[in-house]
Amino acid sequence: MQNYLEGLNETQRLAVENIHGASLIIAGAGSGKTRVLTYRITHLLKNGVKPGSILALTFTNKAAREMKDRIASMVGQNTSRHLWMGTFHSIFSRILRTEAELIGYPSTFTIYDSADSKNLIKSIIKDMSLDDKTYKPNVVASRISAAKNNLVSSEVYSTLPETAEYDQSIRMPLIGVIYKEYAKRCFLAGAMDFDDLLLKTNALLRNHPEILAKYQRIFEYILVDEYQDTNHSQYMIIKKLAATHNNICVVGDDAQSIYSFRGARIENILNFQKDYPNHKVFKLEQNYRSTQNIVDAANSVIAKNKRQIQKNVFSEKEKGTLIKVMSAITDNEEGYLVANEIGDTRMREHYQFSDYAILYRTNAQSRIFEESLRKRNIPYKIYGGLSFYQRKEIKDLLSYFRLVINPKDNEAFKRIINYPARGIGQTSLTKLEQFAAQNNICIWEFASNIPLLLSEFNKGTAAKINEFTRLIEVFREKLETHNAFELASEIATGSEIMKDLYKDQTPEGVSRFENIQELLNGIQEFSISAREEGTPGQLNNYMEDVALLTDQDSDKPEDTDRVTMMTIHSAKGLEFKNVFIVGIEENLFPSNQNGQKTAEDFEEERRLFYVALTRAEQHVYLSYARQRYKWGKLEFCNKSRFIDEIDSQYLDQPVDKDQVFYNDNQEITFATPKPKPQSAMAPGLRASATSQPDMFRKLSKLREAKKETDAFEYSNPEEIQAGMLVEHQRFGRGKVLQMEGKSPDIQATVFFQNTGKKQLLLKFAKLRII
Ligand code: ATP
Ligand code: MG
Repeated sequence: MQNYLEGLNETQRLAVENIHGASLIIAGAGSGKTRVLTYRITHLLKNGVKPGSILALTFTNKAAREMKDRIASMVGQNTSRHLWMGTFHSIFSRILRTEAELIGYPSTFTIYDSADSKNLIKSIIKDMSLDDKTYKPNVVASRISAAKNNLVSSEVYSTLPETAEYDQSIRMPLIGVIYKEYAKRCFLAGAMDFDDLLLKTNALLRNHPEILAKYQRIFEYILVDEYQDTNHSQYMIIKKLAATHNNICVVGDDAQSIYSFRGARIENILNFQKDYPNHKVFKLEQNYRSTQNIVDAANSVIAKNKRQIQKNVFSEKEKGTLIKVMSAITDNEEGYLVANEIGDTRMREHYQFSDYAILYRTNAQSRIFEESLRKRNIPYKIYGGLSFYQRKEIKDLLSYFRLVINPKDNEAFKRIINYPARGIGQTSLTKLEQFAAQNNICIWEFASNIPLLLSEFNKGTAAKINEFTRLIEVFREKLETHNAFELASEIATGSEIMKDLYKDQTPEGVSRFENIQELLNGIQEFSISAREEGTPGQLNNYMEDVALLTDQDSDKPEDTDRVTMMTIHSAKGLEFKNVFIVGIEENLFPSNQNGQKTAEDFEEERRLFYVALTRAEQHVYLSYARQRYKWGKLEFCNKSRFIDEIDSQYLDQPVDKDQVFYNDNQEITFATPKPKPQSAMAPGLRASATSQPDMFRKLSKLREAKKETDAFEYSNPEEIQAGMLVEHQRFGRGKVLQMEGKSPDIQATVFFQNTGKKQLLLKFAKLRII
C-alpha cells in the first residue's frame, strides 16, 4: 500500500481506490467524506492523471482552498494549481468567460450580487407602475431565483400553467413579465446574477454540442462534495459533463441537507443511483471529528426526523465533556457569557482563538457578539452579513471598477453617476434608465452619445453626463497598460472618492477612508502575487475573484488567530475544537422566518441544528436568552425545543424552574433569575429585568463612541523608518520591516502583532511611532 493511503480506514481506502465509474459516498457527519475526496484526487495525481483533467466542485471557496492546500502538501503546488477546483459558481463563471461570445456576452461580464438584482427588480416594478407593497422585491427575486435553479427560463416561465397559477394565488400575476424584463436588462447590461452562472452554463452546454464535447473531453474525472445540497441546475451540469467518461464521485449526507430554500434537492442522490446504474455505494459511519458525547447527542436529535437514510454514526474518540447549556437574561448577557467563556477556557486549556466558533441562525445576531468580544479584546472574523465588500464606500469604488471594465453595467452606472456629487439628479437618472430600457440599449450607450443626450436633456445636464462618461473612458484606456493596483489607485483619486471621504473627519468618515485604503492594500497584494506567480494581474482579473465572494467568505482576507463567527449554513463542512451555538430560542431557532412552518420545514431546521452540533471536536455550548431585541422591540423568548430534543444524559444543564415564559402581556412569569456569582454577571444587569438592558446598552454605546473618537495622533510619514515600532489605529502595534518607494508614495511593510504582515501606503495609512 502506498504511504499516503495509510491515513484512511478500510472503506475510505476502497472509495479512494475505486477511481473508474460512478461512486456514491453516503456518510455521516465528520466521517471523512471530504478527506476521501482529497485523497482520491491525490491518488489520481500519483497515478499519472493530469491535474487539468480533474474537476472538483465544493460548496464554498474556503472548502476549495483548504482542499487544494492539502493536496498541494501531498503532490506539490506545481501540480495542484492546475486542478479545476472551486465552487460551482467560480468554475462555471470561468468557463462562461472563455465562451462568453457564443451566448452574446462580453467576456468581462459583470456578476450582479443580490443587492444589484434587487435594485434592478425595484426599478422594473417602478417602471411598470406596479405597487411594491403588492409586488415585494424580495418575493419577486426569490421566485426568479427558484425558476432559474429549476432551469425555467424567462421565455418559458409565463407559458407554464403551474407558475401562472401560483403567482395568481400570491396575487402577483405579473412576475413572469418582470422576469422577462429582468432577463432583458441583465443581458443589455452584460451582467449575470449568481443563478445565471448555472443557468447560462446549462444553456451553453445544451445549445452548443461542440462546447459540451470539449469540456466532456477535458474533465475525465469529476468529484462533487456536499452533493445533498446541489440544486437541479447544478445536477444537470454535472450529469452532462460526466456523460462520456462516467468517472464521477459524489459525496453527501442526507442528514445535512440544509439548502432546500435555495432549491437544493435531496432527490439528486436518488437520481444519481438511477443515472448510473453501475455505481458503487460506500457508507462511512465512523466519525473522526467529535467526542462520543457530541456524536451521541447529535444522533439523538436527528433521530427525530422521519425522512432519512438510516446510518449508525459512532465515534471511538474519548467520551468527552457534556454539552454545556447557558441561559442568559438578555441577548447582551448572552454575548458577555460567551466572551467570558472563551477568555477563560482559552487561558485554562491553552486554546488558540481560532479554536473557537460562534454559530448563529441569522446574521443579525452577530452584532451582540462582536461587541462583547471587542470589549474583552478577543479578535474575531465574521463570515457573511455586511462583509467588508458590502460596505457602502467599498461598493462605490468597486462600482467604478465595474463600469470601467464593463461600461454596459447599468447597476454600477446608476450607483456612481452622481457619486461624488456631480449635480445629476434622480430625475435625470430615471430618464436615462427608462429611455435605455425602452430602446433596448444599455444606459452607457445612451449616456455616451452626445446628439442623443442633447435631444433628451438640456445642455447643462447633457454636459455633466458627458463629462462623467469621459472620465470613465480615460480610466478604460488604462485597463491594459496598468496593473490592478495602479489603475485602482488612479480611479480612487481621479473619481474624487478619496477627496470626498477625506472631507468627512467624523470617526465614521475616517474609518471609511481607511477601508478604502485597506481595499487598495488588498489590490496591491493581488498585483504583487500575480507578478510573482506570472498570472494576469489586471483590474478585471482582480474583480473576477471579488465578484464571487459570498456569504461563506470572511470579512477579513487574512487568516490569523481569530474567533470565527458565522451562520450555521456557512459552517457546513468545517470543524472547530469549541463551538458555541447561540440564540437557541423558539422562533429564532427553529426560525419563524417566512411565516408558517410545515413539518418538512421543521425537519430542515433540525438538520441545521445537527450540522451545528457536528462541527465541534471537543466542546459544545448551547446558549439562549430570555429577552432579546427584535425589530427594535424587547421581546421575551422561550428556550428552543431543540435543546430538549437532545437526550438529557448528554447535557450539563442548569435546573431552572422559571423556564416557561409567555409572550402575552397578561401572564409574563419572568421571575428573578437564580442568583449567580457576581463575577459571572455583566455590569448593569443586576437589577430589574426590563430597564437594565436598556441602560446597559446606552452605557456601552457611550463607551464605544468615546473610544472611537479619542484622538489618534499620526506621525509624519517622513519620520518613519524600518525597524521602528509603530501603532495603527485599527491594526494595533507592529514593527516596520521595510520601506520602499519615494515620497509621497512611500510604502511600508509592517508586521502587526495581531493581524500579521501588511503593506501600507504611508500617505493613507497614518502610523504613529511608539
Ligand atoms: P462533514 O460531514 O462535516 O462534511 P466529512 O464527512 O467531510 O464531514 P471530514 O471533514 O473529511 O468529514 O473529516 C472529519 C475529520 O476527521 C477531519 O479532521 C479528518 O481529517 C478526520 N478524519 C477522517 N478520516 C480519518 C481517518 N481515517 N483517520 C484519522 N482522521 C480522519
Ligand atoms: Mg465534508
